[in-house]
Amino acid sequence: MELIDVHAHLNYEGLIERIDEVISKCKLVGVKVIITQGTEPKGNREVLELSKKYDIVKPALGFYPTHIAEYSDEDIENELNFISNSDCIVIGEVGLDYFQGKNHEHKDNLTDEVKNRMIKYFKKLIQISIDKDIPIIVHSRKAELDTIEVLEEMKAKKVVMHCYSGKKKYLQRMIDNGWSFSIPTNVERALHFHYIIKVVPLNKLFTETDAPFLAPIKNEINDSSNVIVVIKKIAEIKQLDEEEVANNIFLNYQKLFL
Ligand SMILES: [Zn+2]
Repeated sequence: MELIDVHAHLNYEGLIERIDEVISKCKLVGVKVIITQGTEPKGNREVLELSKKYDIVKPALGFYPTHIAEYSDEDIENELNFISNSDCIVIGEVGLDYFQGKNHEHKDNLTDEVKNRMIKYFKKLIQISIDKDIPIIVHSRKAELDTIEVLEEMKAKKVVMHCYSGKKKYLQRMIDNGWSFSIPTNVERALHFHYIIKVVPLNKLFTETDAPFLAPIKNEINDSSNVIVVIKKIAEIKQLDEEEVANNIFLNYQKLFL
């Protein structure tokens, strides 16, 4: 079986300390591609290093929405230049995040100004993906409608909605736009993904881990070898053979990313 993880954070704590072991383990179970996501300037460089060192690691560079507030316009513009001139194969992780949970970055400060700045740079990152003609991996939390409208306004085509947990009523609109969805490894306990698997055609589905987060078993450290769990769930829900699901998802990768 050829497996793919379109969304992981291999440079994060929990994985980076034992990265050789993690990569070997993934290769052993048939993982052929791990797209690892940059979320800020330091992370973007770490992602590029990892992709040079390990053949199965592919670089996605981006600016995570909640990090935008932590950097000056000048710093962000510099980083956008760096991303534009890099040889990343994906733009990610980018998007919009309006969540204000207890320990979340936006707990007290989600002003219109903060939101507008997030949107401004999300647009610029989308434009980079369009100029480079590469896919964009999109995070959206409590901001689905704005995320969809911005992507539509920019006429982004190669869109992968990562871990979409927004309202069901927007799903058909995104499917009609031709966008794809990546399903994470916590799929067994996150029931809304069962619905997404059901309604999204197989040729628009991807497997992901968001490792080290979203492990199949809550609070364990996740890694890309677990994507098999998602293959099994898609096979079960769509009543297909696991091998067939894995082959189709690998084909989806070749079509959109190569
Ligand atoms: Zn992520």
